[in-house]
Order: sequence, then C-alpha cells, then structure tokens
Amino acid sequence: MSARQSPLTFFETVCSNFDKAATYLQHPQGLLDQIKACNSVYHFRFPVQTEDGYEVISAWRAEHSQHKLPTKGGIRYSEEVNEDEVMALAALMTYKCAVVDVPFGGAKGGIKINPKKYTVEELQRITRRYTAELVKKNFIGPGIDVPAPDYGTGAREMAWIVDTYIALNPESLDGSACVTGKPISQGGIRGRKEATGRGVSFGVREACNLAEDMKALGLTKGLEGKRVVVQGLGNVGYHAAKFLQEGGAVIVGLAEYEGAIHNPKGLDVDEVVKHRNSTRSILNFPGATNIPKTLEALELDCDILVPAALENQITGENAPRIKAKIVGEGANGPTTADAEEILLKKGIMVLPDMYLNAGGVTVSYFEWLKNLQHVRMGRMGRRFAERSMGQVIEIIEASTGHSVTDKQRQMLVKGPDEEDLVNSGLEDTMIVAYHEIHEVWKKTKNIDLRTAAFISSIDKIATSYLELGIFP
Ligand code: GLU
Repeated sequence: MSARQSPLTFFETVCSNFDKAATYLQHPQGLLDQIKACNSVYHFRFPVQTEDGYEVISAWRAEHSQHKLPTKGGIRYSEEVNEDEVMALAALMTYKCAVVDVPFGGAKGGIKINPKKYTVEELQRITRRYTAELVKKNFIGPGIDVPAPDYGTGAREMAWIVDTYIALNPESLDGSACVTGKPISQGGIRGRKEATGRGVSFGVREACNLAEDMKALGLTKGLEGKRVVVQGLGNVGYHAAKFLQEGGAVIVGLAEYEGAIHNPKGLDVDEVVKHRNSTRSILNFPGATNIPKTLEALELDCDILVPAALENQITGENAPRIKAKIVGEGANGPTTADAEEILLKKGIMVLPDMYLNAGGVTVSYFEWLKNLQHVRMGRMGRRFAERSMGQVIEIIEASTGHSVTDKQRQMLVKGPDEEDLVNSGLEDTMIVAYHEIHEVWKKTKNIDLRTAAFISSIDKIATSYLELGIFP
C-alpha cells in the first residue's frame, strides 16, 4: 500500500516521539541518549541461486537495546526494507516490550525481497542462509536475539530458522527458543498466530470501556455497536477485525491492496476472506460498495479506524479527512508525526502501536518460556485442577442436597489448557498495560497516549540502567 512520504524518516519519527516524552522525565541526558540509540546494526549480503541464476540478497538485523536479553523482534520480507526502517522497528520493539513488561530488548530483521517472486524452495534457501549468517555473527540465539514473524513471514519461515539454528548448534538444549512464532510441531505455542490481532481487540475494548474517555469523544461506553474500519487483512488485520466483531463491534469497512469495501450495516469478516480467496479480490463483495482507491477507506465515516498494514499510511495529506474518533494502530508506525498532530488537534484518540500491537511479542514471550521449560503450559496442573474442583462440587452437593446441572458442572470443572493460559495471560497484559499508560496520561497535563506510553516505557528502561549503577 503506497502512501506519501513523511518529512521525517521512520527512525527519526520514533526518535522525535521519544524526545517529546523525554521532556517529561528527569533522567540524565546521557542515559536518555543511550536508550534512544540503536546499538548494533548488521547489514549483510549473500548470494542465492534462483531459477534465473544467482542473485545478491540484501539483509539486516538491528539490535536496538540490550538493556535486557535476549533482544526480540520480527523479520520482515519486503522490497521496501531498508536500514532506517529496520532500526525504527527495532527501537519500537524496545519500547513495546517495556510497556507490556516483557523482559526483552528490541530488535528487528529484514530481507529486501518480494517473497511472492520466489518459489518455496528459493524462500527456504534464502531463510536458511539468512539464519546461518546471523549465527556466524552471534546475532541469533535463545539468550542473544530471538526473531519472530513480521510482515511477509510466518510460521513456515520460523520453522526453517529453528531447524537451521539447531543444525548449527546441535548441543544447544534450549535451541528451540532461538525463534518464536514457530509451528506447534516445532515448539510453537497455541494462540501465537492470533495474538497480535487478539491483543489489538483487547486494547481497543479496554479503551472503550472507560466511560469518561468515551464521553469526551462523543461515544458511548463499550465496544458493542462501534463502527470499525480495518486496513489490511493480513495476520494482524484479519484477527483484529474478527475479534472486534466477536466483541460486538460492527466492521463497516475493510481495505486491502486491490481496493476496499464499505457497508454501513456491517461486513462478516470470515465471509469477506472467503470471497477474497475465491475471487482473488476484496472488491465486489455482495452488499458492499467498492472503494477502488484503497487509502480512501481510511477516510470512511466510522468510530474506530484500525490501520493494520504498513507504516506511513495516515499522513499530513489524508489526516485532515479522517473521520474516526479513535485510531487503533495495529501496524507499526502507521501514523506519521505530522499526521498525528492533525489527528490530536481534531480530538481523535490514538491508541499507539507500541502498546496496541504488543500482543504478538507478549505471546512470543510465553512461547520462549515454554521452550526453556520444555513443557507445555497447563500440562502439569490441568487435570489436578479439574479433579479438585470436582471434589469441591461433590462436597457442596452432599452438604446442601442440591446438585448442579451437567452444563454447570462442565463449566466449573475445566482446568486450563495451553490456549486458555496464553489468552488469559495476553488479556491480563493488555489490560494492565493500558491502565498504566492511562494513569500517566491522566496525571500529565496536555499529553497524548503515545507520549504517555513512551514516558512509561522510557522510565522502566531508565530504571533498569540506573539500578545497574551504570548511570549513577
Ligand atoms: N513482529 C511482531 C512485532 O512487531 C512480533 C515480534 C515478536 O514476537 O518478537 O511486534
């Protein structure tokens, strides 16, 4: 999805948001400079054999901050990948992890390719070679730097990465923790695929549940009935739309590369995906109006706009025409700095990326823990919990003479399995983090939620440096 260039580069935008927040903090300038700097950037090139001969591939891994280890962040495959973007995304990972109390530093990787132009075998070769290059330079490992999926990658690529890493480190008992977002058979965790979108829906719901804030926007409390437009039907956008719909929101617009569709009465997300899969286009969905210029979908009349595609989608050019009351950033960096100023002046609430899309890395953290523990969450306690609850019911039934119905018994006697635990950990994380950010927002005059999230995040990172005694 193309968009007008922002006057600042992506990394500069992240740094300017950092600087804005830093003015509210009392930390020494040297410490703030250290937190802001991108510590290590590795740019490398390698050859790959394709059907047409050899091709030189350009790739990066940036580790923004090692204040906590391992560093963590996805790997994207896109022709747009460049050093500035990788550094910006790595920086966002640092702040994102701190905001949701995930004990990692931030990193990001990228390979400058259009994955659609390669065969599966070629992609496998590229991914394995990329991993081998990272191993050579110590840019990957369970305690060093742990990649994950991002734009253009998924569980399949993570499987190739873990397999390559273990082949090169055969003695590493914890080798499967070198990457997250893996298929379950390779040590992945249930719920990881849906996690970012699910987290977006939890974050939006939490914001909507605060009646006073909704009143200030001219909205009612709660997600029920809120009109939502989602840009991007990839992993994040699809799951965000699906879970928002399940939570009672009405999806009135959906946008993809080829165009967008609009129906004020609501679109069924799964039906739209089925239609797109069978016709290869989102357009011409029964009952919906076509919007051929995809970016125009951002300007539709709605309560909540969720950009869940790429960076720089809401710019100084289109921001004046945004009609949503809430912008929920599912993507990383979808709003340029000049656009944000315009949105805030219009009184729009922006739920910032570093908080709203942190569900992915949160569940990556659970996957990493699972890999280090070598045991599936819930395996040890599920049946025990079920039996204990069964006994409690029996005792209550015997002493009161009342028996519970089969339906009630089924509901009560359910020990948590891996997916239950992952989803409840994710929900708790998103709720707790929102209230932390919200508290900073309310107690600091004239700031927006992004600045509040940065303040909360920078403060946590600064504390971890200060408690090490590095900046006395
Ligand atoms: N790529 C995702 C993000 O930007 C997930 C990162 C991870 O799980 O490490 O947050």
